[in-house]
Amino acid sequence: MNKYHKPKVSVVMPAYNEQDNIEWFSKEIASQLKKAGVDYEIYYVDDGSSDNTAKIVTDLAKNDAHIKLIRLARNFGKEAATSAGLHYATGDAVIVLDADGQHPADLIPRFIEEWKGGAQQVIGIRTSNEKAGFVKTVGSKVFYMLSNALGAHVRRNATDFRLLDREVVDTFKDYTERKRMTRALLDWSGYETIFIDFEAKPRLHGVAAYSVRSLIRLALNGYISSTLKPLYIISLFGAVITVLSLFAAAFIIIEQVLLNDPLGLGITGTAVIGIFVMFLVGILMIAQGIAAIYIANIHLEVQNRPLYIVNRARSIISKDNRNE
Ligand code: UDP
Ligand code: MG
Repeated sequence: MNKYHKPKVSVVMPAYNEQDNIEWFSKEIASQLKKAGVDYEIYYVDDGSSDNTAKIVTDLAKNDAHIKLIRLARNFGKEAATSAGLHYATGDAVIVLDADGQHPADLIPRFIEEWKGGAQQVIGIRTSNEKAGFVKTVGSKVFYMLSNALGAHVRRNATDFRLLDREVVDTFKDYTERKRMTRALLDWSGYETIFIDFEAKPRLHGVAAYSVRSLIRLALNGYISSTLKPLYIISLFGAVITVLSLFAAAFIIIEQVLLNDPLGLGITGTAVIGIFVMFLVGILMIAQGIAAIYIANIHLEVQNRPLYIVNRARSIISKDNRNE
């Protein structure tokens, strides 16, 4: 950030059928941005809404050059819409938030303060979401539990409500993978981050578009794109089963064949076949696991994430050296 020019902050909002939330919320955001004393632009990404969302934004934009509209050709989902906004935003920093007004705009000046103080990413942590139903509450608990177990490292209650420095946005633009959970990708990048708690507000108009089914799909995308552990678990199981069956076989051979059944177990042929089947299943699972490891490698190559990310703002390299 150049000290001598007024910094410009872009706000990016994915919007799907938010017609009743556009006017009041964009006003509130603009007044907060003015309060923070920055130049600004407000990007609405209309994610194929079937209501008047695009028309209302278009009308607003006619009278206010700060308002911009990216109109996706159909509904691509929030993750894609957010990515589109990040690709088009031009600010020195970009703030992403939901268009429905659930993310409190009055935190914007604080986000910007932290950014000016040197934070490269400011992330809103949701402390409560009263309106969330039982299924979503339990579902999110399970999601974070599994994330930890699988090593996907999604920070608990970290939301999409966040400010990103230009450098973080530029790095984000390099990601080509398709199945994505925007915030998991951003978390993977690293960068110096500050967390700010907030309480999610109730939705004033419209309905939450995310059904439980689409949330499960998003969670799966999050896992698949950020962890390979499930692939390795199969072969681990296989190995355990094989080893157990070998122990059982050794026991039978010693007890039954060599020592002539001193324990009087009278092990039957069926039991021997059972152990043999167990052995074979174990071998099959190991084989499957080996194939899975190759698939994991293909997955990583296709994902094509950057090999490393240089935190340029924190490095000592000449400005024009973009050796990446
Ligand atoms: N959204 C979107 N495309 C979709 C679904 C949702 O751009 O297909 C937007 C929506 O307009 C809102 C944000 O994503 O600004 C969060 O959606 P929602 O309020 O439905 O989810 P929740 O608040 O339950 O997380
Ligand atoms: Mg919402």
